[in-house]
Amino acid sequence: MKKIGLIGGMSWESTQIYYKVLNQKVKELLGKFHSAKIVIDSVDFSVIHKLQGENDWDALDKEMIEAATNLKNAKAEMVLICANTMHLCSDAVKQNVDLPLIHIAEATGEKIKEAGLKKVLLLGTKFTMERDFYKNILTNDFGIEVLVPNEDDREIVHNIIYEELVQGEINAGSRGQYIQIIYEAIKNGAEGVILGCTEIPLLIQPSDVSIPTFNTTQIHAEKAVEFALSTSLVN
Ligand code: GLU
Repeated sequence: MKKIGLIGGMSWESTQIYYKVLNQKVKELLGKFHSAKIVIDSVDFSVIHKLQGENDWDALDKEMIEAATNLKNAKAEMVLICANTMHLCSDAVKQNVDLPLIHIAEATGEKIKEAGLKKVLLLGTKFTMERDFYKNILTNDFGIEVLVPNEDDREIVHNIIYEELVQGEINAGSRGQYIQIIYEAIKNGAEGVILGCTEIPLLIQPSDVSIPTFNTTQIHAEKAVEFALSTSLVN
């Protein structure tokens, strides 16, 4: 079994879910007493959040390269950036750290393709919904049409992530707002919804909406286990 390296703390509310899913999946596949081999480099999210606010992606690249290097030094055999947004730094990590990187958007694209869906709504931070790094992978590599909410709704989705979910606050009112936004997208032809922020699954459950949900935290962690237990190369 390969050792899984996690860049965590972005936020720790979702990193703890990664830890749980990785161990549950290994136990499910290998049986009683088995657990995942994991090393976590957990950052101080306030540093990341401040640099995001300043749009200083060069500094964020450096933070992610440093964390991935720490994982490599701790004998990790792959790296996962445990956030969708911070995959804006994935190219920098791949170029500077000699470890396979399990990409969250690629793992999610595979699942959507397997489900046979062609048009999906992407929910996440404004970075994830508005920039191309995530949508391009889904569209160019998997032929998926990606919808995002309108500007006002993107603001709502983004603010709920940072003001509530990464603080560990789950509010029924915010759940209602997300559900309404998802129903607007269904009217525009969305066949599924990507929970494209690793904290959104804390708020939205598959039973909350009538279309399939793609839980990126779960999908990303399961892809890591698949790689940890295989001999194939991913990068
Ligand atoms: N965990 C989040 C994500 O998946 C947001 C926090 C961050 O900015 O990294 O995008």
